[in-house]
Formats: sequence, structure tokens, C-alpha cells
Amino acid sequence: AKSSGKNHYQLYHEEMHKDESKQMKMEVGLRKALEQKEFFLVYQPQIHLKTGKIIGIEALIRWKREEQEIISPEQFIPLAEETGLIVPISEWVIKQACEDIQQVHLRGHSNLLVSINISALHFNQENFVKSVQAILQQTNVNPHLVDFELTESMIMPNASQTISKLVKLKKLGIKLSIDDFGTGYSSLSYLNRFPLDRLKIDKSFIENLNKYHDDSSIVEAIISIAHRLNLSVVAEGVESKKQLLHLKTGNCDHIQGFYITKPLPLAELIRFLAEWEEDLY
Ligand code: C2E
Ligand code: CA
Ligand code: CA
Ligand code: CA
Repeated sequence: AKSSGKNHYQLYHEEMHKDESKQMKMEVGLRKALEQKEFFLVYQPQIHLKTGKIIGIEALIRWKREEQEIISPEQFIPLAEETGLIVPISEWVIKQACEDIQQVHLRGHSNLLVSINISALHFNQENFVKSVQAILQQTNVNPHLVDFELTESMIMPNASQTISKLVKLKKLGIKLSIDDFGTGYSSLSYLNRFPLDRLKIDKSFIENLNKYHDDSSIVEAIISIAHRLNLSVVAEGVESKKQLLHLKTGNCDHIQGFYITKPLPLAELIRFLAEWEEDLY
């Protein structure tokens, strides 16, 4: 009995150790990733439903670890948040996205918006607005063509401080979107109080359009509330023509999803933009 107890302890200990060391390896890797330029951005176009024109692109981070496998943000963003590494990573994302959108503008797509996912931890830094301002100046990008995607959970706590930050960003010219709309806090009161431009309907609702469990009334309600408040609506995760047509009938403004294209590295995106035909239906 004594020895089996010991074995059990050892096993448990080894398991824990494995998890911990995996985590530590990932953390060490993350620290190196910035210096060694292992992060890159891919871009997914956003389409204006009425005209079929591409109006913007969303920047999404990828990690090419030690020149081998590509790691998705869902695998490393939580650890980056936990360790605070998300702050320099997020600064890098904003800077890179601004440099890249300049390239896109120079290639003749001069009105394209770049949407950037902002981390809560970064947004809550005292000097967030200043650091953004510095990046805008360095990269010389038109702030009206930069859009920040924020989540409901990051802007709800601390509402008064949040509002003043949002107002400052707005004054710089930056557009503000709420990402994953409908999945977070249910309070709608902030929609009126915050200087927002767009709502992005979470892809879970789009997935359930036309399905047995139909979310079309929720989607239609979100669109109509948004329009009443002068916000435009982006539907993300559009994978089929059926969903696209449904959203078009429902008066949704913009769509994004695999039906148009998966997110693309910059060079491929530039080719995609050049070849895009607006008659997509
Ligand atoms: P998100 O901002 O909600 O991004 C949408 C996710 O849906 C992306 O996953 C995108 O590749 C994926 N997607 C696009 N079209 C479709 C579709 O038609 N169907 C389905 N099923 N999925 C689609 P990704 O790139 O793996 O990013 C996951 C999450 O990681 C993002 O969710 C965002 O929360 C976070 N993230 C990504 N890039 C960044 C970044 O640069 N900074 C920060 N702070 N977070 C990021
Ligand atoms: Ca997003
Ligand atoms: Ca989203
Ligand atoms: Ca999401």
C-alpha cells in the first residue's frame, strides 16, 4: 500500500511537471519569438454587401515557431495575456498592421481600412493611447483607415475610464468596433454612451443562420438596433452563399469569412485584391 501510494504521487508529480514544462517551454519560446521575428500577420478581407467592394481587412496574428509549425493565436494568446507578453506583442501587431496597410494603400487600394484586434491588457495600460499615437506618427498611416476591434468584456468594467480612452482614440481619428458582439455582457446601454462605429456579430450566430436552431431573428434584431444607433454591422464567419444572401436580405453592411477567403499573408492579399471581382452573387 505504501509503495503504490508513492507511485501514485510520482505519477501525479510527473504529469504536473510535464504540463508545467510544456508551459515554460511555450513561455520561453514566446519571449524569443518577438526578437527573432517569428510572428506574422495574415489578413482577411471585409466586403461591402451592397456593392461587393472590399472595404477593409482584419489583421490576425500567427506564430511560426522555430521555422516549423504555425501556431494559432488561440494556442498562445492566453499564455501571452497571463505573462504580460501580450503588451509588446500587441504593440508589434499594431505597428506591423499600420506598415502593411501603407503598402496596400500604395498599391492603389487607398481607402482600405485595417482592423486590429486589441488585447484587454494592452488597452488597460496607462500609456495605451500615447503608444498608439506614436505608432500612427511613425508609420504615417491615415488614422481614419485604422479600426480597433474591442470586446464587450474589456470595455465594460471601469466604464468612465474606458469612455475617456475611447474618446481620445476617436479624436485621433481611429474607428472603434465591438468584436464578438452578442457573446459578452448583455447590457446594451453602453452602445449609446461609447463612441463606436461598428458591431461585429459573433460567428456563432452566423453559423446558426438557416439551421435547425435558427438565430436569424437575433441577427436581424442586432442589425436593426445597430442601424438605429448609427452603427454599421459586420458579420464574421460567413462560410456559404446561403448565409451571405440571408445577411444581404437582412440589411447587414459588411461580411467576412471563408466564403470570401481565408486570412491571407500580405503578398497573397495584395494579389487577391488585384483579382477581386465585385459581382460575387
Ligand atoms: P476573432 O477576432 O473573433 O477572429 C475571427 C477568427 O475566425 C479568426 O481566427 C479567423 O481566422 C476565423 N475565421 C475567419 N473566417 C472564418 C469562417 O468563415 N469560419 C470560421 N469558423 N472561422 C473563421 P484566428 O485567426 O485563429 O484568431 C482567433 C482569435 O485570436 C481571434 O478571434 C482574436 O480573438 C485572437 N487574435 C487573433 N489575432 C490577434 C491579434 O493580433 N491580437 C490579439 N490581441 N488577438 C488576436
Ligand atoms: Ca476580431
Ligand atoms: Ca470576432
Ligand atoms: Ca472570437
